[in-house]
Amino acid sequence: MTETERHDYDVLVIGAGGAGLRAAIEARERGLRVAIVCKSLFGKAHTVMAEGGCAAAMGNVAENDSWQVHFRDTMRGGKFLNSWRMAELHAKEAPDRVWELETWGALFDRTADGRIHQRNFGGHTYPRLAHVGDRTGLELIRTLQQRIVALQQADHAETGDFEARLRVFAECTVTELLRDDDGAVAGAFGYWRESGRFVVFSAPAVVLATGGIGKSFQVTSNSWEYTGDGQALALRAGADLVDMEFVQFHPTGMVWPPSVKGILVTEGVRGDGGVLRNADGERFMFRYVPDVFKGQYAQTEDEADRWYDDQENNRRTPDLLPRDEVARAINTEVKEGRGSPHGGVYLDIASRMAPEEIQRRLPSMYHQFRELADVDITAESMEVGPTCHYVMGGIDVDPDTGATSVPGLFAAGECAGGMHGSNRLGGNSLSDLLVFGRRAGIGAAEHVAGLAGRDAGRGAGRPAVRDEDVDAAAALAVAPFAGAGTDAGSGENPYTLHADLQRTMNDLVGIIRTEAEMRAALDRLGELRARLRDVVVSGHRQYNPGWHLALDLRNMLMVGEAVAASALRRTESRGGHTRDDHPALDAQWRHRVLVTRCVPGTPGGRDGVVPRVEVEAAERDPMRGDLLALFEIDELGKYYTPAELTAHPQGSG
Ligand code: FAD
Repeated sequence: MTETERHDYDVLVIGAGGAGLRAAIEARERGLRVAIVCKSLFGKAHTVMAEGGCAAAMGNVAENDSWQVHFRDTMRGGKFLNSWRMAELHAKEAPDRVWELETWGALFDRTADGRIHQRNFGGHTYPRLAHVGDRTGLELIRTLQQRIVALQQADHAETGDFEARLRVFAECTVTELLRDDDGAVAGAFGYWRESGRFVVFSAPAVVLATGGIGKSFQVTSNSWEYTGDGQALALRAGADLVDMEFVQFHPTGMVWPPSVKGILVTEGVRGDGGVLRNADGERFMFRYVPDVFKGQYAQTEDEADRWYDDQENNRRTPDLLPRDEVARAINTEVKEGRGSPHGGVYLDIASRMAPEEIQRRLPSMYHQFRELADVDITAESMEVGPTCHYVMGGIDVDPDTGATSVPGLFAAGECAGGMHGSNRLGGNSLSDLLVFGRRAGIGAAEHVAGLAGRDAGRGAGRPAVRDEDVDAAAALAVAPFAGAGTDAGSGENPYTLHADLQRTMNDLVGIIRTEAEMRAALDRLGELRARLRDVVVSGHRQYNPGWHLALDLRNMLMVGEAVAASALRRTESRGGHTRDDHPALDAQWRHRVLVTRCVPGTPGGRDGVVPRVEVEAAERDPMRGDLLALFEIDELGKYYTPAELTAHPQGSG
């Protein structure tokens, strides 16, 4: 039996971004003992990188805003594939989650009359993003951490121990979920990044909040943690993924110099007045308003410019179409020869706002371009192009509780699927983390409360970790060392394998796809899977990034296959999935999601390092009648089949 450090909790939260912290706070406030595990430093998650803001229909800047308008915008952005129940809960609860943050000490930017300021973003009818300059995620994480410290201080006052009910295990990577004999989740296996020592957590409820998958792609705004761990852990534990074909390419990443390619340029630049131009100086987005949005966007530059000051009497600029539309438009401009010297287009804020105003509203962007590209954005245009940014697909969860199909396993945040359909609106992630992080915390707490014998520690009702699973997880974790030192120069290098995977995903499963490319991608992923068996790392388990990457590659390969196989199956174009060979929306696909699961019986051990996945279509539940009635039937007719529309009040006659 493997000797390991062991810890026992009621709820184990894997991930310390916005979703994980919000879930942990909720479970702790319900009296449970909670562990938070994160593979990066505490406070360093993607949430901290969020720039533009957090979408919530508070109506502070535009009083006509409401949860119904936010719900409609979210469904339109996702091209009506979203889990409508998640979109409903999100739109209704987001304002309370933002106000709650304020009561916990968050300091948002203010309107002239002292309310939380809200800015414009793509796809949102009204200015809706609560923000702190262009550093909103930093304030969100700081506030949640402060709340956690406050809870720890309360525990200290009561028990003399700061960590009596809430403990953070930072720089600790989970590599496997553990289940009991009945298939219920029982805990997780991981290693300390610094020492390489193993650690086992026992818990009857586990919340996955591990974020996205961007590091499988070559050009991405994401940082090193985004290797699809939560999605792969869930699959291997028996849960399903949905919508994995929908990967968001943010239209504006940096394109130059090469060392910073992909780093995000916030949509807040366009929200605050910045416009896109091609090499001819043309504001090309006016040519790219798709039929489904016709009539909702300005048709002339004059109207678009007036909209920034008078939103009731003018239509919004097409620079602020949903991200999928803008990314495809930029792609076309570059392909047709109207791109910038480094393969992007121009984003111009310099000619539209005073230099000091740019520095005040967009301080991070000013510094980012100054430091990384030697460009002064108060005087020159930025060069920008699409970058892999976010995954709409993820772990299939119950909308109300975050529960997966595996008893005791919950998920929230970017690693969960459904909420955003085929395309996420900017700002809707930060609010998603807060709304569904809280709900997953409640779901996990109620699950634990429902188990018999909770107060008896490891008593009846609590699932038990099996020693053989711990042994298997440990054996798999050390496998990359197996060939080290025996035959110098032989074996696969994890960095080479990673680069090949990223190139495959970028070139074949990127922004525009075809059947031939998907098939080629699946072939190459099969080859990479075979090569992973031969990955060899040298050195010791003490801080060894090559070893860490070798373990992350398992997850990236599983998730890469899920994306490519789902993209092959969906023979239409919708949101973040564009098929050159099936360029139109197809109403027969609107009500169907693609579910990815592990192929049963895939062998374990070294040969089964990366279990195979399979994809099948499933029907989405029809939208509730009162929600359907929030849309005009003419609009729904662009997405729905005539048979589905009979449920609409105007459709029955
Ligand atoms: P994260 O915040 O990424 O947290 C994931 C956590 O999981 C980390 O703590 C990580 O260490 C941990 N983890 C991962 N794998 C493991 C493992 N195996 N073991 C242990 N721990 C693990 N959204 C908006 O709504 N508005 C914005 O303005 C905005 N701007 C953005 C700007 C940038 C540059 C980026 C990259 C994203 C932006 N987004 C924005 C998207 C948003 O920030 C993310 O979708 C969101 O923060 C994800 O939060 P999360 O809690 O799901 O995951």
